[in-house]
Amino acid sequence: MTLPGGIMRDGQRLRDYRFKTLTGGDELAIAEAFAADDGVPQRITAILTAALETLGGAPATIEDVRALAVGDRQFLMQQLVALLDTETGWMTADCQHCAEPFDFAMRFGDLPCKPAGEGFPIVTVDGATFRAPVGGDQEALAAEGLEGEAAQRRVVALCLVDSKMPVDVGQLDEADLARIDTALEAVSPEAVTETSLDCPSCGRTCLVDLGIDAMPLPRPDTLYQEVHRIASAYHWSEREILALPRGRRQRYLALIARDAAPSSMMRRSA
Ligand SMILES: [Zn+2]
Repeated sequence: MTLPGGIMRDGQRLRDYRFKTLTGGDELAIAEAFAADDGVPQRITAILTAALETLGGAPATIEDVRALAVGDRQFLMQQLVALLDTETGWMTADCQHCAEPFDFAMRFGDLPCKPAGEGFPIVTVDGATFRAPVGGDQEALAAEGLEGEAAQRRVVALCLVDSKMPVDVGQLDEADLARIDTALEAVSPEAVTETSLDCPSCGRTCLVDLGIDAMPLPRPDTLYQEVHRIASAYHWSEREILALPRGRRQRYLALIARDAAPSSMMRRSA
């Protein structure tokens, strides 16, 4: 599996990654991180750290996940949705104009992404060197509550690697910021995080969010209910049930559901 950007290690760009064979415990960690009362970048870091086995051929650490380009992290979230197989292939959105709900076809794993540009993760603008923004930068912005131009200046300061002349980020004008922004965008990998669709009711164009909160990721309550059903049927411990890979857990749940159905039919025919 190949990242659109990749992780830098000893000056080498490494693009391979592998998700774990997810157990119920991994899935619960993902569900709890998804439901956490925290910034979106912090939640993405926790989810990907719980889900990834390796990045660039080595065990994936939380520092590696923070050091991934923003687009790589979004791409990995989409691939994780595909791996969990929690999608129906359809999503519902409410029209921003007439408020009518409408369905549209969607598979996160099939969304296109833009690979990193030439020279990734480094760009040079007016003699200053910058690196592409990463998850850790987004975590800093979220923690500091920065938005708009303040966020833009902070990103420039965080991504500045080296410069022949001292750079006072506070003194950069709008045109400077825009030039740096354009250069960083050109080199950065990019995943789709929203799409525009025409509302079938009123015909007007709607922007539909495809970010993490639109993703059909597992909820802690669903996992607790599944553990409860299996524990009630087989009397296994929580730890034993959460150690099962997802596929095996689903098979046992299907068997429990199958056994529950005929007995009620037998009661009716008796
Ligand atoms: Zn509409």
